[in-house]
Amino acid sequence: MKRLAICPGTFDPITNGHIDIVLRSLRIFDEIIVAVAKNPRKRPLFSLEKRIELIKESLKDTDNIIIEPFDSLLVDYVSSRKGIAIVRGLRAVSDFEYELQMALLNRKLAPHIETVFMMPSEEYSFLSSTMVKEIAAYGGSVQELVPPPVEKALKEVFQKES
Ligand code: ADP
Repeated sequence: MKRLAICPGTFDPITNGHIDIVLRSLRIFDEIIVAVAKNPRKRPLFSLEKRIELIKESLKDTDNIIIEPFDSLLVDYVSSRKGIAIVRGLRAVSDFEYELQMALLNRKLAPHIETVFMMPSEEYSFLSSTMVKEIAAYGGSVQELVPPPVEKALKEVFQKES
């Protein structure tokens, strides 16, 4: 049986930190689904379709990855895909409390699914999609923080606005 894990997130947009976590996960699991939450309550900058397109372009040379949307209770979705684990990234202590709460709640709902935490390379431990958007909005360079298709997409969005 293939050992399949799900990396869920909003990915608004995908950053090098997300990619670091996905690539590390592939060292443990046979296959990874990058599951993109619709998350309208977070008011994403990029549409669900655009977020998926950017992930596909950014990971086009990586095998054993599926990229798809989801819009249901995470544990139900993971069960339906026959995943054995949820992978989340832990950047700093500040991520911990929320992530622990989610992991324990998900365990309560679905005891057969494990949550696995991965630590990114320290050069990405300060990186978030929110920071990247903030920098891009003020015309700063995000070249070292995101893959090239994302850099281009951010330029398009913020050039239009200014
Ligand atoms: P969510 O809205 O579910 O938090 P995100 O797209 O912000 O979605 O994050 C998805 C996952 O990626 C989370 O587990 C988050 O901790 C992780 N992540 C985000 N940025 C980084 C980073 N720079 N390094 C490691 N993990 C990260």
